[in-house]
Amino acid sequence: MKKLCSVCDNKFEVSSPATKYCSGECRNEALRDRQTSINTRWTSLQRILTAEKCDEHDPLWRFSTYAALIKSGTCVFCGSKIGGGIALDRFDNTKGHTAANCPPESNPVCAWCNRIRGANLTVAQMFRLKPLLTEFQKENKCKKK
Ligand SMILES: [Zn+2]
Ligand SMILES: [Zn+2]
Repeated sequence: MKKLCSVCDNKFEVSSPATKYCSGECRNEALRDRQTSINTRWTSLQRILTAEKCDEHDPLWRFSTYAALIKSGTCVFCGSKIGGGIALDRFDNTKGHTAANCPPESNPVCAWCNRIRGANLTVAQMFRLKPLLTEFQKENKCKKK
């Protein structure tokens, strides 16, 4: 079975369907990219927590808490890659970002779903919309190609 390397776009023969990279170098590059993007998001989140005057004891101030929240890399509502930004959904949009207000059940989220939900829909309603949101994301991606 041949596959495209998701880093260098080279075609390569895969031994297992889970393989995404043609070489150890490409895999390391992907890991580095992911690390960079986590660090960038983390910097933005710290800025937001400072602006919102988040309590200094809140677990969200810990990098490990945040890294665990966004680890999956895919939006809980539509299943797409989370893209840029801090990718956190606040359960109560009238309150700031805290560990309690950004629970793992509804995180991470993509910017598109975050905009749709805004102050309009509850988390439970977003989950009811999940099949449609997933379908719409696929439709829109196909249109772009
Ligand atoms: Zn490669
Ligand atoms: Zn989404």
